[in-house]
Amino acid sequence: MNTIETDYIVVGAGASALAFTDALISRTDADVVIVDRRARPGGHWNDTYPFVRLHQPSATYGVNSSTLGSDTIDVTGVNAGYYERASGTEICEYFDQVLDRQLVG
Ligand SMILES: Cc1cc2nc3c(=O)[nH]c(=O)nc-3n(C[C@H](O)[C@H](O)[C@H](O)COP(=O)(O)OP(=O)(O)OC[C@H]3O[C@@H](n4cnc5c(N)ncnc54)[C@H](O)[C@@H]3O)c2cc1C
Repeated sequence: MNTIETDYIVVGAGASALAFTDALISRTDADVVIVDRRARPGGHWNDTYPFVRLHQPSATYGVNSSTLGSDTIDVTGVNAGYYERASGTEICEYFDQVLDRQLVG
């Protein structure tokens, strides 16, 4: 059996866990192990229907170290005139990048 030594173990790789871990490692030298029963980060967003979107603007969601979306106002569709709101697919792709680029050292 292999033993892993770490400072923190975070259960879950959803939005809450990734925001916590992102903030923790940006301010400390802590080592973190994240475990999730799912094979991919993003938590419940992995299971959403394609039409499901955030209720709030994308740029105000996610982890501190990386902006979700491009912080622009939609010009077409039912959200025209409002700040873009990411879909579940876009959120999961964003969390993939956060994990690969920011969190995995
Ligand atoms: C349609 C919709 C729109 C939403 N819009 C917004 C919005 O605009 N703004 C907002 O702030 N929130 C919004 N939410 C709420 C959303 O739930 C949260 O933003 C966030 O995604 C929740 O993340 P979480 O990490 O707390 O939970 P989850 O996404 O549920 O992630 C928890 C993770 O922990 C894992 N896990 C749990 N227990 C264990 C265990 N024992 N062992 C291994 N793994 C485990 C699970 O597999 C899962 O991947 C929305 C929700 C929905 C459904």
